[in-house]
Amino acid sequence: MAKNSSRPVGRHFLQIPGPTTVPDRVQRAISQPIIDHRGPEFAKLAKRALDGIKTIFKTANPVIIYTATGTGAWEGALVNTLSPGDKVLMFETGQFAALWKKMAEKLGIVPEFIASDWRHGIDVKALEARLKEDKNKEIKAVCVLHNETSTGALTPIADVRKAIDAANHPALLMVDTISSLASADYRHDEWGVDVSVGGAQKGLMLPPGMSFNAVSDKALAANKTSKLPKSFYAWDEMLAMNKVGFFPYTPATSMIQGLVVGIEMLHEEGLENVFARHERLAEATRRAVKAWGLENLNKNDKQLSPTITAILLPEGHDADKFRALALEQFNISYGASFGAYAGKYFRIGHLADINDGTLVGALGITEMALQVAGIPIKKGGVQAAMDFLTSQHGAAAKQAAE
Ligand SMILES: *Cc1c(COP(=O)(O)O)cnc(C)c1O
Repeated sequence: MAKNSSRPVGRHFLQIPGPTTVPDRVQRAISQPIIDHRGPEFAKLAKRALDGIKTIFKTANPVIIYTATGTGAWEGALVNTLSPGDKVLMFETGQFAALWKKMAEKLGIVPEFIASDWRHGIDVKALEARLKEDKNKEIKAVCVLHNETSTGALTPIADVRKAIDAANHPALLMVDTISSLASADYRHDEWGVDVSVGGAQKGLMLPPGMSFNAVSDKALAANKTSKLPKSFYAWDEMLAMNKVGFFPYTPATSMIQGLVVGIEMLHEEGLENVFARHERLAEATRRAVKAWGLENLNKNDKQLSPTITAILLPEGHDADKFRALALEQFNISYGASFGAYAGKYFRIGHLADINDGTLVGALGITEMALQVAGIPIKKGGVQAAMDFLTSQHGAAAKQAAE
């Protein structure tokens, strides 16, 4: 084979579970001339963004927009509602849950971690049992991830809410929906979530650098008594300024221009269609994995992620080496692996502005790269994915004709 040229040809396959590919329309919106962040044009734009983002979280309450990545909004959720020494209950779904827990410790909160093997998502019954044991109601918040991006597990948030209610526990419910918002069904108000943490660079199709806190009335009440130090992430000043269309400091005006267009695109497609598309692409990916004879890291088929699939390689094969080979030979990026499974799996992101063709291309590359890397697989993964996608489109066409 000829030596690879230094110029990668064609579009890079960015198959990581975020940041995702930014659609041209969003890119153009971001590229508009800079506007005055205290002027009337910005006030109109801010209103569209602040109203629009509520429709994505499905909340009637205000949503705080931070100029920070998701990690910043994690901090916002904790420091605005809790006090030093407060106990919180967290669940070890994977790497991102572990990182949020580490942050809580650094902030002087006392997290209790329900341990897990990273392969089964959340155990709602264990959560409920722990809350029932907490007779003195010392646990101030339950913090879970809607979608654990490191393992591909989707938490049933409505069930978590039911578990908290069944234990008759007053803890706040905080949910990280960074890698599921605008890709999987999410209902901040209906599910009784107190703080939802979102990010821009995944389902919302924006570049990294913006994140969100959706809040409940109970969270706003907790904010009044919370004693953790807060300044940049403080809700009160932000909410007061947002009411008149402005921010306490210079907001990321260009990103807000992009956000408005991203939200517009999601509604043009229809949120239900967006969710169905993610389900379809995820199922096609899982069928490819199965046909290759490989294993999904997540063994709980009731909590499978619609946005990312983590694929274990057979014993003795290095997933990081595989990713490097695929990047060099096929110009594709996959997500990395973490923790006890570092080097043992790779992740395919199938979220945001992605269609069936892009996914089939990515799976085709994956099937080739696995073979080039000498990883023993069965052929036919791409065919299995295409057969599934074809059946789904066929069913939809039939329904439309009736
Ligand atoms: C991406 C991600 C984060 C971290 O967000 P950053 O934007 O990298 O700070 C947190 N939680 C989940 C579930 C994520 O997918």
